Amino acid sequence: MIDLFKYCPHCGGTVEKKAILDDTQLRHVCNSCQAIHYLNPKIVTGVLPIAGDKVLLARRAIEPRMGFWNVPAGYMENGEKVEEGAERELWEEANARVKNIRPHLIYSIAAIHQVYMLFRGDLVDATFSPGIESSEVKLFNESEIPWNELAFTSSAVCIKRHFENQKNNSDKVHLEHYIHTKNL
Ligand SMILES: [Zn+2]
Repeated sequence: MIDLFKYCPHCGGTVEKKAILDDTQLRHVCNSCQAIHYLNPKIVTGVLPIAGDKVLLARRAIEPRMGFWNVPAGYMENGEKVEEGAERELWEEANARVKNIRPHLIYSIAAIHQVYMLFRGDLVDATFSPGIESSEVKLFNESEIPWNELAFTSSAVCIKRHFENQKNNSDKVHLEHYIHTKNL
């Protein structure tokens, strides 16, 4: 992956990856002010809303993957709990609320430095509508899921594991990492 972190956010100086005493990783160090910049993965949080044998998906109105369907999710903000972030994203993308939110899938995509923390929750009522980042919001049962029109592999894994859980009457939490959708 191309290293896009080239300039120090403190002083604008150039940065270089260097070995730091007692650190196992190379770190970005500013050549001018010597500040050490720790770059760590981002957390994407989201919740799959459940209504009986159906789940609620949102069609993306923004890039990347505009027009594709997704489990409502987005980057966690500073100052919120991970489940609050999931509920906020659901509200922003689908104007929907869930209760009984519970952990469902921890999904690492090491190559792009993301960790998805996805929940399941029970849709509180049938009032939902597209938020500003969505063009459509819809309930799907398992046979209706648009598998070839899902935005991200995280959504495909999340939905698949949900229906498996539901068949097994289970709340099993799944720990997975990126695989190509064709191998699901
Ligand atoms: Zn600097």
